[in-house]
Amino acid sequence: MKKWMIIFLAFCLILCGCSVPAEAQTRTIFAMDTVMDLTVYTDNEELLSEAFSKINELEKKLSVTVNGSEIHTVNTTGSCVLSDDASDLLTAALELCASTGGALDISIYPVVSAWGFTTGEYRIPDKAELETLLENVDYSAIVLEEGVVSVPEGMQIDLGSVAKGFTGDVISTFLKENGVTSALLNLGGNVQAVGSKPDGTPWRVAVQHPIDEDYLGVLSISDEAAITSGGYERYFIGEDGNTYWHIIDPATGVPVDSGLISVTIVGESGLVCDGLSTALFVMGLEKAAQYWRSAAEEFEAILVTDEGNIYITEGLREKFTLSESSEDAVLTVITR
Ligand code: AMP
Ligand code: MG
Repeated sequence: MKKWMIIFLAFCLILCGCSVPAEAQTRTIFAMDTVMDLTVYTDNEELLSEAFSKINELEKKLSVTVNGSEIHTVNTTGSCVLSDDASDLLTAALELCASTGGALDISIYPVVSAWGFTTGEYRIPDKAELETLLENVDYSAIVLEEGVVSVPEGMQIDLGSVAKGFTGDVISTFLKENGVTSALLNLGGNVQAVGSKPDGTPWRVAVQHPIDEDYLGVLSISDEAAITSGGYERYFIGEDGNTYWHIIDPATGVPVDSGLISVTIVGESGLVCDGLSTALFVMGLEKAAQYWRSAAEEFEAILVTDEGNIYITEGLREKFTLSESSEDAVLTVITR
């Protein structure tokens, strides 16, 4: 471009009071056992490094497997003084355990371990073993008072069902506080949108199909999280030929067989979406629809059944479009 053109363009921008839009900065890391991509529209490259430091700090506090994390300390000693982050997350997680009637139960960890989901050494525990382990599964016995958590002997906490959603909330708040109005955080398939795209239109986010290679559809979201729980994310096929996945029914100690194979939750709070994606997966279609109708929290959901039928709550009518390969699926809108 000629020099006079650049001067002319700069002059025009000054005259109309416009600023040159920030560039997209993108970065990928592996944290919390998953690949995370951040796309942030900002001129400040430091923000991405700071965001990743925050994610690493959160992992050190919240991971059930990191020696010395706050959760590891509770699980090995019975109590721990919590940081504000861990305390906020635990408080909200316990509220979700209660509101979902225990479909979400963050004390499920010993059962998750017994199936081998924490190590990859998969096995099928027998009924007697599960019954013994379930004696220590009861979120309501977790005591959190003035930032100190304590659990009865034998009980262990796992925040795997809510930690990534919470992390999305923390990072999006951090970015907003630093002037970012447009960003897309993909924390291992858990998506958090900060504002809209720089041109003002919503972010378009693909929802993974629980069985097919292709995606299920596209969600349009602004300033919201879209979080999916799927059986396909972590599973093994047992010697008996059955598929066992990592979401456990706290009532039985067995990988849940609710008729749902994938649940996506859309809403303002990543933490709530993450907790509810796990909980509604456990509930199954009818109870999930009932929960959505009466819940105190505002959210929308996409539920996929093991027969390949797709259900969306009515708030997603204009926000969700099926992919071409899923267009023949039966799509039902759940109304109030
Ligand atoms: P998500 O991918 O968010 O659905 O979380 C699944 C993870 O949460 C599993 O890998 C387990 O560590 C843990 N988990 C499994 N079942 C439950 C449950 N019913 N309530 C709470 N956490 C669970
Ligand atoms: Mg979850």
